[in-house]
Amino acid sequence: MKAYDIVIAGGAMAGATAALALDTLSRGTLRIAVVEAMLPDHGDHPGYDARSIALAEGSCAAFAKLGLWEALAPFGTPIQHIHVSDRGHAGQTRIDASSLGVPYLGQVIELADAGAVLHQKLKNREAIDVFCPDAVVAITRSPDAVTVTLKQGQPIVASLLVAADGGRSPCCAQLNIPRQQHDFGQVAVIANVSTALPHQGQAFERFTQTGPVALLPMSQGRCSLVWCVAPSEAQQLMEASDSVFLQRLQQVFGWRLGRLLYVGERHIYPLALNQVVRPVSHRVAVVGNAAQSLHPIAGQGFNLGLRDVITLADTLSAAAEQGDDIGAMPILMDYAKRRTSDRDSTVALTSGLVHLFSNDSMLLAGARNAGLGVMSALERVKQPLVQRTMGWVEPR
Ligand SMILES: Cc1cc2nc3c(=O)[nH]c(=O)nc-3n(C[C@H](O)[C@H](O)[C@H](O)COP(=O)(O)OP(=O)(O)OC[C@H]3O[C@@H](n4cnc5c(N)ncnc54)[C@H](O)[C@@H]3O)c2cc1C
Repeated sequence: MKAYDIVIAGGAMAGATAALALDTLSRGTLRIAVVEAMLPDHGDHPGYDARSIALAEGSCAAFAKLGLWEALAPFGTPIQHIHVSDRGHAGQTRIDASSLGVPYLGQVIELADAGAVLHQKLKNREAIDVFCPDAVVAITRSPDAVTVTLKQGQPIVASLLVAADGGRSPCCAQLNIPRQQHDFGQVAVIANVSTALPHQGQAFERFTQTGPVALLPMSQGRCSLVWCVAPSEAQQLMEASDSVFLQRLQQVFGWRLGRLLYVGERHIYPLALNQVVRPVSHRVAVVGNAAQSLHPIAGQGFNLGLRDVITLADTLSAAAEQGDDIGAMPILMDYAKRRTSDRDSTVALTSGLVHLFSNDSMLLAGARNAGLGVMSALERVKQPLVQRTMGWVEPR
C-alpha cells in the first residue's frame, strides 16, 4: 500500500494549488498524492473548462508568494477598471486601479490555461505524485489514518484526506459531511464574445431586470461573458442562433463596447450556494468548491477557495514542522476556525448581492421606485465589495 502524509482528491484549481502550496510551505517535507479523475486537456474536464475567471489582485499576489504567478502571468489579462451599471437607470459606478494605487484590480485567466500550467508544476515536484486519470472511489478512516481506494484499484494511506473534489464533492457525500444548499433559481450562460470597440482592460457588471450580466476583458481583444438568467430563459439563449443571441445581449448590455460581433461556444451552469457546515471531519479537510460553491455574481469562488488552500497549507506546514500529527482534530479545528470569518462574510456578501439585485428584492424595488436605481442600493455594500473584489482579505 502506498503511504503519504496527505492525499488530495481533485486536481483542478483548488486541489492542484493545495498540493503546490503545501509542498512550497513545507519545503518539500510532506509527501503528497493528488488524485484527479480527468487529464487537464480533456475536453470535458469539469474544472479546467471553457470558463475564464477573474483572479483578484490579492490572489495574484498570493500566487506570486507561492512562486506560481510568473508561469500564470503570460495567460492573464489585467483588469484596469470595473464598471457597474443598472440597465434602465442612469447611475453607474467605477472602480479604477489607478485610484487605488495598484497596477491592476485583478487578472482574467482561462481555466484551461491555468490547468496546463498547474499540472506541469505538479509533475516537477519531487514530493508530489499525481494519479491521473484516476478517482477516489472509497474512503475508510481509522483513529490514526485515512485510506482511500482508487478506481484503478490502488489503496493509498495518509494522515489526512483533503477533499478538493468540487461542488458535488463525492468525498463529502461518501463521508456524510453535512451540507447546506440554496438554489438561486438562476443559470449562468457563459461564452466568449468579440466586440467592435477594444475592451481596454474594462470589466463590466450590469444589473438587469432578468439578472446580472458580466463581461470580463480577455486575451486577443475578446470578452468573457457570464449572463445570469432564469433557467427557462437560459434554454432559449442556448437554442438561439448566434445573431439572435448577440441581439439579445446587446439589448441588455448596451453599447459601451460598440457592436457585439461574434459569440463563441455557449455553456450553462446552474447556480446554487452549496456549502459544508464545517470544512473538517475526522482526518478530512475540505477546500475550494467542495467547501463552498458560490454564485458567480462578484467573481469570488476561486478567490475564496485559494484562501482556504493557503490557510490549510500554512496550518499543516506549521504543525508538521513542530512534529505534530497533521491529521489530528485540534490541527483541523484550527484550520476551520481560521476560515470561519472569511467564509461567512464572503458567502453573505455574494448571496446578499444576489438577493439585493433579484427582481423580488423589496430594497431594490423601493430604490427603483424612488428613481434611485441599483447604485444607491449598491452604496450599502460598496466597501466590503471593493475589499473582496481586490481580494484584500488576509488569509488568517
Ligand atoms: C460561470 C462561473 C463564473 C465564475 N467566475 C469566477 C471568477 O470570476 N472568479 C473566481 O474566483 N471564481 C469564479 N468562479 C468559481 C470558480 O470557477 C470555482 O470556484 C473554481 O473553479 C473551483 O475549483 P475547485 O478545484 O474547487 O473545483 P472543481 O473545478 O469543481 O474541481 C474539482 C475536481 O475534482 C475532480 N474530482 C471529482 N471527484 C473526484 C474523485 N472522486 N476523485 C478524483 N477527482 C475527482 C474533478 O474531476 C475536478 O477536476 C466562477 C464559476 C462559474 C460557474
